[in-house]
Amino acid sequence: MIQRYEYVKRAAQESELKPWQRVYTNRNLKLDTVTHMGFDMDHTLAVYHEKLEKLAFDLSIKELVSKFGYDQKILDFEYEYGGVIRGLVVDKVRGNVIKLDTHKYVEIAYHGEKRLTRDERKVIYAKPGESYRPDGDEYRYLDTLFCLPEAYLFLRMVSFIDETEGQREDYTQLASEIRTSIDTIHRNGSLKKEIADNINSYVNKSAQLAKTLHHFIQGGKKLFLLTNSEYYFTDLVLTHLLSNELSEYTRWQDYFEIIVVSSRKPGFFLKDTEMESIKVDELGVKISKDVSYKVFRGGYYAKIEELIGSSGENIMYFGDHTFGDILKSKQTCGWRTAMIIEELEKELKTIDSHKDKNAKLSGMRGELYDLQEELHLYEEKIHSLRDRKIDCFDDLTKKELENMDIKISESQCILSQLEIQLSETVWKIKSLEEELLEDYNPKWGCLFKSSRRKSRLGDQVEDFACVYTSSITNFYYYPTTKYYRISRDLMAHERYDSNSY
Ligand SMILES: [Mg+2]
Repeated sequence: MIQRYEYVKRAAQESELKPWQRVYTNRNLKLDTVTHMGFDMDHTLAVYHEKLEKLAFDLSIKELVSKFGYDQKILDFEYEYGGVIRGLVVDKVRGNVIKLDTHKYVEIAYHGEKRLTRDERKVIYAKPGESYRPDGDEYRYLDTLFCLPEAYLFLRMVSFIDETEGQREDYTQLASEIRTSIDTIHRNGSLKKEIADNINSYVNKSAQLAKTLHHFIQGGKKLFLLTNSEYYFTDLVLTHLLSNELSEYTRWQDYFEIIVVSSRKPGFFLKDTEMESIKVDELGVKISKDVSYKVFRGGYYAKIEELIGSSGENIMYFGDHTFGDILKSKQTCGWRTAMIIEELEKELKTIDSHKDKNAKLSGMRGELYDLQEELHLYEEKIHSLRDRKIDCFDDLTKKELENMDIKISESQCILSQLEIQLSETVWKIKSLEEELLEDYNPKWGCLFKSSRRKSRLGDQVEDFACVYTSSITNFYYYPTTKYYRISRDLMAHERYDSNSY
C-alpha cells in the first residue's frame, strides 16, 4: 500500500518537474525489470566543483615547466572556464580543437586560440571526394569533464609556441608532454591531495544523493559501485558524500553489495582480468573486516555478474563517460545504461530562458519562407514575360511591346525590393541565432547541437544511452518501477514548430 502511494505521489510530481530535473529516454526501459544498479563514481555519484578544472590546469603547467623545461611565463596562464566543452576533438598534429556534427562535418575549429575561418577549415578538413574521419592516434576525444583542462592547456600552449617560436608542422610532441603532465598529477597524488585537504570546496555535497540511493534500495534494487578510482580516494569522496547521511546507513559502503575499485574501464568490459579481493588500500591502510569482504580491485564484467547473480538487461549502469561507461557496458554486456551529463542542466536552463527569442526566430523563419516564395514567383513572371516578348516579337504592336517592357521593369523593381528584404531577414535570423548560441558557449555554441544538426556528442548520447539526465539525484523524483518510454517518432510535418535552439 505504501509502495502504491509512493508511486502515485512520484508519478504526479513528474509533470511538475523542471526540464533539468527530468530523465530523458532514448530506449524504452522498464525499471521494474532491473534488479541491480551499478554506479560509476567520478562525475556520476560525485559532482566536482568546476574549480577542479583550474586546479588540474595549474598543476599540469607546473609539470610542463619542471619536467619539460617550458618557459616560466606559462605559469601565468589563466584558466578559462568554458574555453573548451565536452564532445570536442583535439587534432594533435595540427594543433587544433574541432567541433564535429553528426555527419563528421567540422563546424568550428580553433588553432590555438585563433578561430579558423570557413575557408581555412575547408582546406584542412573538407578535401574534395573524401569524407573526414577523425580516427586514430592523431586525435583525442574530450569525452569526460576530466579532459577539459588538458585540451584547454593544449590550445593555450599552441598559441604560446606560435608566438614565441613560430608555427610548428606537428604539435604531437606538445600534446604528449601535456598528457604526461596530466597523468603525473593524477598518479603522483598531488591533485588528489589538494582535493583531500579541501574536500568541501572540490566535491559538491547534495543531501539528495543518499536519499536517491535509499530510494533505489527501498524499491528492491541491489546496488554496486564500479569505479576507476583507487579505494583510498573513493573512500575519501564517498565518506564525504554518503557516510552518516541517513540513519539506516552508517558508512557509505553500506549502500553497496559489491565495491569494485581501479576497474580500468573500458578494459573492464572487454578483457578477462582477475578480480582481486583487497584488505588494505593503496596507502597501506587496513580496510575494516565488515567492509573488506565486498571490496575488489580490477576484474572483468562477467565476474561481477557472477558475484551479484544477475546479468544483461537486469543490470542498469550509471556513468558519465560516453565510451568507457555507456557504450561498452551496453555493447559488450547488454546492460541498460543511464548517462549523467552535468552540463545538461545549464543547457536546459538556457533553452528555457530562450522561449521568447525562439518564438521570434520561428516567426522570422516563416517570413523568410514567404519572401523566398514571393521572390521565386516574380523571377518566374519576369522570365515568362521575356520569353513571350522574344517568341511573339513580330506579332506584337509597338504599344504592346512598350507595355510589356513596363511590366518587366515593374516586376524587376519589386524583385530588387524583395531581395533587399530577404537579405535583411537572413541577416536578422543569423544575428539572433548567433545571439542564442552565445548564451550556451560563446566559442563553441550548444553542447548537443551543431548549427541545425546534432553535434557528435548529441549523436552519441542518443545512440548509446538508454536514458540520460543532468544528475543522478533526478531519479529520486521517479518511481523505482517507472516505465521510461520514448516519445513517439515524429514525421517532418509534426515538427514544424520545433525550431528551437
Ligand atoms: Mg566518471
